[in-house]
Amino acid sequence: MPPFFLGKKLQRPPKTAPMDGIWDTANKLRYYYRSLLQIWSSSKMDTAHRDKVAEVKYECLLFDMDDTLYPLSLGLNLLCRKNIQEYMLEHLDIEKSEVPKMCLDLYREHGTTMAGLKVLGYEFDNDEFHAYVHGRLPYQKLKPDPVLKNLLLSMPQRKIIFTNADHAHAVQVLNRLGLEDCFEGIICFETLNPPKQINYTDDDHVHMGSTPFNNSCDLSEGGCFNSHHQILCKPSVEAFEAAIRIANVDPRKTLFFDDSARNVANGKVAGLHTVIVGCADLVPGADHALNSIHNIKEAIPEIWEVEEGNLQKMIQSPAVETMVLA
Ligand SMILES: [Mg+2]
Repeated sequence: MPPFFLGKKLQRPPKTAPMDGIWDTANKLRYYYRSLLQIWSSSKMDTAHRDKVAEVKYECLLFDMDDTLYPLSLGLNLLCRKNIQEYMLEHLDIEKSEVPKMCLDLYREHGTTMAGLKVLGYEFDNDEFHAYVHGRLPYQKLKPDPVLKNLLLSMPQRKIIFTNADHAHAVQVLNRLGLEDCFEGIICFETLNPPKQINYTDDDHVHMGSTPFNNSCDLSEGGCFNSHHQILCKPSVEAFEAAIRIANVDPRKTLFFDDSARNVANGKVAGLHTVIVGCADLVPGADHALNSIHNIKEAIPEIWEVEEGNLQKMIQSPAVETMVLA
């Protein structure tokens, strides 16, 4: 590699009054030295500028699903809560007068009511619970959203769903919204809480959506829970850390979208950039606020501001290759 100053014209010393001997030589050396110093420092500044420009701000976009990719006003959230309360009443024999408050208290304290019920020692089948709570939702309320689909497909970053819901619900919602091809994968209940008998190895894959991810979730490190009494879910910081490991993303280059203020707050604790959705004002820990996910381009244009060179790098990244090959 040639010296950094080759190719650049050195500044000639100005004409000065004739000086003899050592003083003339010393003066010339001083000018040349200063010229070299100027070139060296401008070369360093150029490199720093290039590095800054070349840096990709976001490599991955992590999306909550329910009430984030479709509006809260559809009312699925309330219907979901109603189903949970019915399950508590009919399958767990909890006193009717206690159910509403208990449902809400457990949700607030443990992330989901289901997680709280397990902590209290209630034993029930996870799949049966999800089928009762989500399986009976009026999914026909969800309509295809081509505007959101086009927005998502135009984003150059990796896009991943991170939801507390079960896989069947996630697939159903994404299909109804017409967004099934917009995401590299789904991190859902089963991803963070795999059945006890499953032991993943380095060669195995966790299937999220229709796409396999390399499974970087090490059960021995407590990244995934398989206890019958403890469920790993948002908003716990451990759930975020597990999702970050599984998706193999750099949280400092990942933008996380969620309609829940507590999820946003702990997403920030886990090191993510954060967006509160469905809210005009920032909440603690949020970097951006979006009234609707449809406003994303106006609110966060930097998602699309990726230089051509970086675009090529992102397209050629191993993660995206996995997506393409799946
Ligand atoms: Mg949500």
